[in-house]
Amino acid sequence: MTPAPSCIDYRKLKDLHDAARRVYIEGAKVLEGAPQGQEFESAYQTAENAMVAFVSAREKLEKHIADHGCVELLEPNNLYFPLV
Ligand SMILES: [Zn+2]
Repeated sequence: MTPAPSCIDYRKLKDLHDAARRVYIEGAKVLEGAPQGQEFESAYQTAENAMVAFVSAREKLEKHIADHGCVELLEPNNLYFPLV
């Protein structure tokens, strides 16, 4: 496993990003299995909200990396999709 970058802000943003990603994936799974009707609409809203949160977390992480340059060479291939 790649050593974790020491930047604390990066770690915080990465944790938020990874958590938002998990929620997004779970939301998409629920949506995939949801039957038509109210249950689908509810699952759709949940997945949509999770996607918005994920996109926001991703933008914040990308902005931090661009501004700070703290991780670009440490884990270029698995920055957003670590094998965990
Ligand atoms: Zn940083």
